[in-house]
Amino acid sequence: MAASKQRLRGGIDLGGTKVQAIVVGDRFGVKGDARLPTPTSGGPREVTEAMAEAMRGAAAAAGVESSALAGVGVGSPGAVDTDAGTVAEAGNLPNWQEPFPLRQRLEEALGTRVALGNDVALALEAEFRLGAGKPYSSMLGVFWGTGVGGGLVLDSKPWRGRGQAGEIGHMVVKQDGARCTCGRRGCVEAYAGRGAMERRARRLLERGRKTDLFRIMEDRGRTRLTSSVWAKALEKRDPMATDLIERAIGALGAGIASALNLVDVEAVVVGGGLGIRLGEPYRERIEKAVMPHLFATESPPPILLAQLGDLGGAIGAAGLIHP
Ligand SMILES: [Zn+2]
Repeated sequence: MAASKQRLRGGIDLGGTKVQAIVVGDRFGVKGDARLPTPTSGGPREVTEAMAEAMRGAAAAAGVESSALAGVGVGSPGAVDTDAGTVAEAGNLPNWQEPFPLRQRLEEALGTRVALGNDVALALEAEFRLGAGKPYSSMLGVFWGTGVGGGLVLDSKPWRGRGQAGEIGHMVVKQDGARCTCGRRGCVEAYAGRGAMERRARRLLERGRKTDLFRIMEDRGRTRLTSSVWAKALEKRDPMATDLIERAIGALGAGIASALNLVDVEAVVVGGGLGIRLGEPYRERIEKAVMPHLFATESPPPILLAQLGDLGGAIGAAGLIHP
């Protein structure tokens, strides 16, 4: 029926490695989804084309044209200007520094209205409203992937501070520690980000340390140490992978505990590509790594896995559209 189809909404999660598109109905039930690798060369134009193609694929899977959707929400990394409809300084996307009119270009390609938002903020909101954070009125979200993103919900509202709050990845866990992509030292992300872990693994390999990480990567036809490459190496008890994950978990534990000591939220939700791929045993290890640094040890808040999994970001993005 055309009337009910009008209520379908699209959501796109634009990540550094993949573009995830979905179509959801009422109450965010997923009606169709499609994903494509994020172009690693070219620029915003090529990335926008991949986004439009993924969205058309998700719409086709839901049995509609993209132009029949009530709208499409987009969760983007970088500096998102929701009023101007532009994205700039997206460091994990190819040649995307200058502001690019993403909203307008996608509207032209998809034939429906488009709304932009920040990827981490949208994934956080989705977990809070529909996922693991649902029973609580305050939570800390930790998105463990290429980088380590985060966000806070306080009194049932996202806390953005003056716009930059929730950067758990840049909590300092070691003074004068490892160099971070932000240019500073000793941040959680400098130890736990998948990007930082891969750079360290390559350096150790050059110094003659043995590992199967890169062989597994090549076997899978990858050029980066993806979450599934790490998972496979850990399963095989690769010593380097085990050491690097140990180090990452230590940094996450110290960073999360420090955040909890300050804001004492009711729950911590761990998501992101690596968090979701590694799953339960590693959630438990993060929980253990938090304890030695926690001030209020009698009643530690639960550390939960993100419930919406890989689709959380795209579901949150669809929430930008109010049919
Ligand atoms: Zn940093």
